[in-house]
Amino acid sequence: MNIDFLIIGQGLAGSLLARELMQRNCKVMVIDGGRENASRIAAGLINPVTGMRFVKSTDVDILLPAAKGFYSRLSGYFQQPFYLEKPMLRIFCSEKEAINCLNRLDDPDYQSYLGEFVQSTSVGNNLVTPFGFLEQYQTGYLLIRPLLSCLKNFFISQNSYKLADINYRDIQLKPSLRWQDLSPGQIIFCEGYHAINNPWFSWLPFQPVKGEILTLEHQAELPDKILNYGNWLIPLNNHQIRIGATFDRENLDTRPTDLGKDQLLNALEQILPNLKHTTQINHQANIRPSTQDRHPFIGHHPRYRQLAIFNGFGAKGSLQIPWHSQRLADALLNGVPLPNSCDIQRHDATHFPG
Ligand SMILES: Cc1cc2nc3c(=O)[nH]c(=O)nc-3n(C[C@H](O)[C@H](O)[C@H](O)COP(=O)(O)OP(=O)(O)OC[C@H]3O[C@@H](n4cnc5c(N)ncnc54)[C@H](O)[C@@H]3O)c2cc1C
Repeated sequence: MNIDFLIIGQGLAGSLLARELMQRNCKVMVIDGGRENASRIAAGLINPVTGMRFVKSTDVDILLPAAKGFYSRLSGYFQQPFYLEKPMLRIFCSEKEAINCLNRLDDPDYQSYLGEFVQSTSVGNNLVTPFGFLEQYQTGYLLIRPLLSCLKNFFISQNSYKLADINYRDIQLKPSLRWQDLSPGQIIFCEGYHAINNPWFSWLPFQPVKGEILTLEHQAELPDKILNYGNWLIPLNNHQIRIGATFDRENLDTRPTDLGKDQLLNALEQILPNLKHTTQINHQANIRPSTQDRHPFIGHHPRYRQLAIFNGFGAKGSLQIPWHSQRLADALLNGVPLPNSCDIQRHDATHFPG
């Protein structure tokens, strides 16, 4: 069967790219091994201003409206919400962090994202805030798991999905591109951190990072806001929360650990010391497809132009993938150059001299 694009991986990257290409009338086949992946366990948080230094994410003023638009169109199509906007309380862990934030408050570029700094040492009866806090706007989280289920069913309904683990050796490059009975114009690899084993793209400087997340039940009264205290807490309903996430560059496996769980619970206890009796509902781990220069890896292989990659979204897939899937579709279908910041050409010279 002739198709335009064979997409390998049905995480958030492969799914949104496939949807974008199908919206532009391309014939697409999505292949996925069906295992747990980073997207299905991720919290899906979107937070425009992050880190100890309190800096705006690169290009967030462009990425955020694109993401909201993309998710809202999907919500309209599938008749269910996927992106839930919710303000975030940023709880400072030190005086230095609070000062970094105060410096941003005068910056007009940050005004639509930040509320007032509050110097109080507590919120309500439970939340301890020794260095004060601030409310952040335009924050929220994506319900990635239900979104991926809807998209998978949509791909199946269009005869555009196959459950399979692709063995790279079964991909034929010459005389024409072929995998099993499919003859695609191009193959686009969206394999998340598994790309480190891809024979054509493993030369890219990935820096995978394991993360763990806990889902807990509790009986306390908490604000109906996302909390960010170095880690984050998302209130799912009155009695359930998700907390995360750890960062581990050494142990690149997908096993939840006691160490990860203790780290998350200890950090939670610092801000919610009264939240003693919680019941664990779930404990999950997976690997973020992060990159050394913290920019995505998108574009064609320098020698095999029929192969492309769409990957490297690290810890910010929910924010970055919608806009970048549109840019890759523009490049594939209309020859529009990719933005330099994400184009893998920036690494070609190091690995493919001449
Ligand atoms: C603990 C944790 C918390 C996170 N929290 C957030 C957050 O709050 N906000 C946010 O924006 N991002 C978050 N992320 C990051 C987010 O998960 C990623 O940016 C995004 O999901 C990556 O999507 P992906 O499609 O590139 O990779 P994945 O979701 O890993 O998908 C890759 C898919 O490719 C498939 N695949 C790979 N190789 C093959 C093959 N040979 N054959 C068939 N299929 C194959 C895999 O099975 C998988 O289904 C978090 C990640 C983790 C681990």
